[in-house]
Amino acid sequence: MTVTVIGAGLAGCEAAWQLAQRGIDVTLCEMKPLKRTPAHTSGDFAELCCSNSLRGAGLENAVGLLKEELRRFGSLILRCADRTAVEAGGALAVDRQGFSALVTEQVRSHPRIRVRAEEVTALPEGEVIVATGPLTSEPMAEAIQALIGPGHDLHFFDAAAPLVSFESVDMDSAFFASRYDKGTPDYINCPLSEEEYRAFHAELTQAQEAEVHGFEDQQVFEGCMPVEVMARRGVDTLRYGPLKPRGLRDPRTGREPYAVVQLRKDNAQGSVYNLVGFQTHLKFPEQKRVFSMIPALREAAFLRYGVMHRNTYLDSPRLLNRYYQLKSEPRVSFAGQMTGVEGYVESAASGFLAGVETARRLLGLQPADFPRETAIGALGLYISDETVRDFQPMNINFGLIPPLDHRVKGKRNKNAELSARSLEIVETMRETVLAGMPEEEPI
Ligand SMILES: Cc1cc2nc3c(=O)[nH]c(=O)nc-3n(C[C@H](O)[C@H](O)[C@H](O)COP(=O)(O)OP(=O)(O)OC[C@H]3O[C@@H](n4cnc5c(N)ncnc54)[C@H](O)[C@@H]3O)c2cc1C
Repeated sequence: MTVTVIGAGLAGCEAAWQLAQRGIDVTLCEMKPLKRTPAHTSGDFAELCCSNSLRGAGLENAVGLLKEELRRFGSLILRCADRTAVEAGGALAVDRQGFSALVTEQVRSHPRIRVRAEEVTALPEGEVIVATGPLTSEPMAEAIQALIGPGHDLHFFDAAAPLVSFESVDMDSAFFASRYDKGTPDYINCPLSEEEYRAFHAELTQAQEAEVHGFEDQQVFEGCMPVEVMARRGVDTLRYGPLKPRGLRDPRTGREPYAVVQLRKDNAQGSVYNLVGFQTHLKFPEQKRVFSMIPALREAAFLRYGVMHRNTYLDSPRLLNRYYQLKSEPRVSFAGQMTGVEGYVESAASGFLAGVETARRLLGLQPADFPRETAIGALGLYISDETVRDFQPMNINFGLIPPLDHRVKGKRNKNAELSARSLEIVETMRETVLAGMPEEEPI
């Protein structure tokens, strides 16, 4: 039995490795160097096309936990990252070329992986893992669209508003209500006085924007207007748009505020909220600086900043199960950014899980079922959570992981305990997940 893995990015390489290490033959198809996406420049696999950082290393960060879980389960991407790490304070950053070269060398020299330089334009027969990334080539995107059928359109552009954790919103400065009290009071409303609104507006119009990459489609950009662009159209434009106060009475004053920012639940548990209408192209530190001027968000923990870039991704909650497998056609799995996980490590984690679960199925084993308490499991459960309606790509964060059953003082301590709980579970799963694998040679 051979599995075809399409795309030798972070997800595809990890998936191919996990399959091969479990004795499954893999054909890994990568279009480089014959054809390149607008953001890829080297001929190597697992190319980091922007930052060279795999983000926080400590276990008080959710991404630190995700990395540690992957490390303990024999992830190729983590082994190569650790081997090529450069000094970066509390983060895991790598020598960009050294990292990609090492992944490429490991993948190419694996006896069970056959590499084919080819742009795949149609879905192959047999077992497949599609990991062609946020910049999937056009013919492949068309083939995926044909596979998933009408009514499940691929997203081609990511225009996401920031996400904040519920527990970081100052509810003394906000109130639950729906406009004109229609339906249930599902929104968190963050009022601004005239003075607060004017100060916020002034900073928003002058805040620094992120670089526009050459491949971004200006037309689509116009179609989903960033909040800062809308603000520049006039001082009151936002008060007639996303900050409209109509029909929202502040229970503390009994009156409509001057302006209101609304937050909408982003997951079923209500631990994560998005800023409604706040798709933005500002630099991340600017988002934190300016959006924290909203009184209820003064101490907000941003779980994800707003982004606008080309991003091909699936409406995964409707299409995939927790193993990243297509529900309607289980021989096909997806992995990486195109499943709606966001970031290098998250992409590798989804490749890991898709590879492990595909191998287990082909070997006649039960799925490993990583629970929600683990970061690997939480990501798979998030992308397949049918209650998430307006699905948007997501970094790993502690909001996706169930809270502790007891109170812990201080966020760092609490996060460290969440990580410790996960790693205890990981230890109980290692024997099952790593069964039959060869001892890893040090690299
Ligand atoms: C411009 C840009 C900047 C980013 N910066 C960051 C960042 O700083 N930090 C971060 O964590 N994340 C960043 N991301 C997100 C990043 O893409 C993902 O984190 C990660 O690279 C995705 O991994 P992947 O394996 O899904 O896709 P990729 O790493 O993109 O790999 C996909 C592979 O598939 C190949 N391919 C595409 N189509 C075909 C085809 N038809 N046939 C064969 N091969 C094909 C591509 O050549 C590529 O090698 C950025 C994304 C973009 C677009």
